[in-house]
Amino acid sequence: MKHNSIFNFCPNCKSVDFSFDNNFKFYCHSCNFVLYHNIAAAVAVIIKHEDKILFTVRNIDPDKGKWDLPGGFIDPDENAEQAACRELKEELGINLLPSDLKYIATSPNNYLYKNVPYKTLDVFFEYEISSNEINIAAEDEIKDLLWLTKKQIQLNKIGFVSIQKIIQNYYL
Ligand SMILES: [Zn+2]
Repeated sequence: MKHNSIFNFCPNCKSVDFSFDNNFKFYCHSCNFVLYHNIAAAVAVIIKHEDKILFTVRNIDPDKGKWDLPGGFIDPDENAEQAACRELKEELGINLLPSDLKYIATSPNNYLYKNVPYKTLDVFFEYEISSNEINIAAEDEIKDLLWLTKKQIQLNKIGFVSIQKIIQNYYL
C-alpha cells in the first residue's frame, strides 16, 4: 500500500496496512491502533503603539525571513492568555498581565515543521503598549523588529496565512 503520509509503519505493530486521511486520523487496519494528529493551539499578539503595529522578522523556519507576530504554541495546561504573556516575556522581555490583553479573533494556520504538517488554531490578542522601546530577547527566534503603520504593512511579506487574514480583516 502506498501512503502519502508522515508515517511509513504503524507505530504500534509496524504494519503498513493503515490509513491516515488528511494527516488527521491514523488508523491501523492490523491492530486497530488509532492516533489523532489534532490541531495545536497557538497565540499571537498584535502589539500596538500609537499608529504602529510591531512585527517580528522570523529567524527560524518555517518562513524564516518573513514577517510574524510575537507568540507561539500554548503549552499543556496553560490558557491562551498565560501563553501570550509567557511568549512576550520570552521573546521581547515584556512583562504584562493577562488582563492587559484584548481578545481579537482566532484563525487557522498551517505549520510545516521538519516535514511534519501541523494544523494550528491561532488565538489573536491585542496589547496596547505605552513605550515602543522594545528589544529582542530571543535572538535565535527573532532577527529583527519592525514598527509599521497601516500603510507600511505588506501582506505578502507575512509568513503565516492566519496572521495575513487577521491583519487584513481587522487592521487594514
Ligand atoms: Zn498497528
